[in-house]
Amino acid sequence: MIYDAEFDVVVIGGGHAGIEAALASAKLGAKTALITLDKEKIGLMPCNPAIGGIAKGIVVREIDAFGGEMGKAIDATGIQYKTLNTRKGPAVRSPRAQADKEEYRKYMVNRVSNTENLTLIEGEATDIFLKKNRNEIEGVEVDGKIKIKTKSVVVTTGTFLEGVIHIGDKQIPAGRMGEKPSNKLPDFYRRAGFPLQRFKTGTPARLDKRSIDFSGLEEAPGDEPPPKFSFWTEPYGSYWFKEGQKKQIPCYITYTTPETHKIIRENLHRTALYGGAIKGIGPRYCPSIEDKIVKFENKERHTVWLEPETKDGISIYPNGLSTSLPEEVQWEMYRSIPGLENVILLKPAYAIEYDIVPPTELYPTLETKKIKGLYHAGNFNGTTGYEEAAGQGIVAGINAALRAFGKEPFYIRRDEAYIGVMIDDLTTKGVIEPYRLFTSRSEYRLHLRQDNPVLRLYKKAYDLGMITEEQYRFVKDIEEEIKYWLERYKQEKIKINGKGVKVIELLKRSDIHVKDLEKYGADLPDKNYIQEEVDINVKYSGYFERERKMNEKMRHLENIKLPDDIDYSKIPGLTKEVVQKLSKARPITLGHAARLEGITPAAITAIMIYLEKIK
Ligand code: FAD
Repeated sequence: MIYDAEFDVVVIGGGHAGIEAALASAKLGAKTALITLDKEKIGLMPCNPAIGGIAKGIVVREIDAFGGEMGKAIDATGIQYKTLNTRKGPAVRSPRAQADKEEYRKYMVNRVSNTENLTLIEGEATDIFLKKNRNEIEGVEVDGKIKIKTKSVVVTTGTFLEGVIHIGDKQIPAGRMGEKPSNKLPDFYRRAGFPLQRFKTGTPARLDKRSIDFSGLEEAPGDEPPPKFSFWTEPYGSYWFKEGQKKQIPCYITYTTPETHKIIRENLHRTALYGGAIKGIGPRYCPSIEDKIVKFENKERHTVWLEPETKDGISIYPNGLSTSLPEEVQWEMYRSIPGLENVILLKPAYAIEYDIVPPTELYPTLETKKIKGLYHAGNFNGTTGYEEAAGQGIVAGINAALRAFGKEPFYIRRDEAYIGVMIDDLTTKGVIEPYRLFTSRSEYRLHLRQDNPVLRLYKKAYDLGMITEEQYRFVKDIEEEIKYWLERYKQEKIKINGKGVKVIELLKRSDIHVKDLEKYGADLPDKNYIQEEVDINVKYSGYFERERKMNEKMRHLENIKLPDDIDYSKIPGLTKEVVQKLSKARPITLGHAARLEGITPAAITAIMIYLEKIK
């Protein structure tokens, strides 16, 4: 075959997975092409204009620790920042930010367009060529005519493969609203013998801010000082902006009413979901409002967050109100909510169905088992969420480049990062519904915290070539300083009421932090980040040790028998979903239970504790 161009790596799709894959590959020195349908839509947020959230915010910091871009982009373009779960322990806290989605998109377009080793090609990847042996990548076809030779291909097509939008009984072939679907690439997958699964997701209508009455609604402001996502943005070496550094915009909270629920119930048969038009499986954790009304029948109201999509624009995203109701019913439904009585819909809500390839087709490197040099990342692997997509993208991009250079692949272990937890879950358990990350999916969640991604990952990132020597030394010095202060506080005593008390004992108290030590006459580290890390390490060392021991115990799960008559609904801490799955599957050992889809490590811990109690 005669080729028009040659690259080391070709990335298909300029969404959140494709961006990180292309930038990582280019950073490692691979001549990289990013092929995407519309270059102005690179980094577009088709749903919630926000980055981060429970576990997801930690993933963004992990991507950042690996030298990725998402954290920097949201630090530059966010309009409101919060740390979620501050009332809970450090293991489950996570940053979240509202983005100015237009600024975010522009940031990414600019970044991808001006990166060394990276060429942006606007077009549709229509086919993938294999070598004669049929199990190795040779090239990619663009728009049915241009042929590009390459060693590695990363496919990140999001919701575009054979995408169909549903609004009530109306169906429109599309990859997203207003964009054509990608219908040629699935033929390659069928020919190559990959199974395809059908998944579904949805998005709410967009509302005109000028038609909303905010006067009676609860205001939800950002945190001050705001948390940031990247360790490398200003102020360098910190996960916090300075007080007042960011101008923040509030969101507002309102609630559905009995009238809203009535309208939905009466029109349930007209939704694409319950009317039978949608066959794909939707995200359990991001359900449509009709799904919530049916599944939580007795809940009197559901929370709706009104989130601005941009700093100065008029578009409001009503978080919690995605639906596939017909458009005319949507107007009625939205107007039954306080504050929205006269609301104007700028764009209707819709659901979308699309093809994915089961992630069990992949190694933990995200390379397919069938074809060498073919990698998959993002929604195409059955996940949902920008952060999950970006986390896979960086792994696939690094491996695609390593392969192009004939180097050994890399993967991230479960005990190193949430990215490792996610990829292990995907490739070993597969997906029966869109996969979203939660802290409960990890058995290492006290270790995989939001405050320590750089410390966990800097060595690996540096060995791969993803961070500079300066960054490496900076974190290494921090790590050493943390050790130094922990040791020092173990020995050092200060006088309180004439009595000598070890600093470490004082710090174990929940009301005393490292920054308070000055008033007791003790020295403290200069950097805020080191103060925080020392504090967390002292306060939670007992829990960390317990987690370590528990994980050792986990290795013996196979020998722990589950009683035939065990009643899972009696076990404290198990979610309804887990109780249902276990009651149906009736696993014989804890090891067996742990391997079931949807059974989280936290659930296994809860069962273990219960078994100990009833012994
Ligand atoms: P995307 O961001 O979708 O990017 C795919 C890219 O591939 C696009 O740039 C496209 O142009 C390109 N492309 C596709 N086919 C080709 C081709 N053949 N050739 C060249 N380029 C191609 N996530 C949630 O967490 N919660 C939600 O509630 C939610 N709702 C959603 C609702 C809707 C309507 C949509 C569309 C998405 C929703 N998502 C939701 C998913 C979220 O958008 C994705 O998780 C995230 O964008 C995935 O990133 P990605 O990189 O995998 O794919």
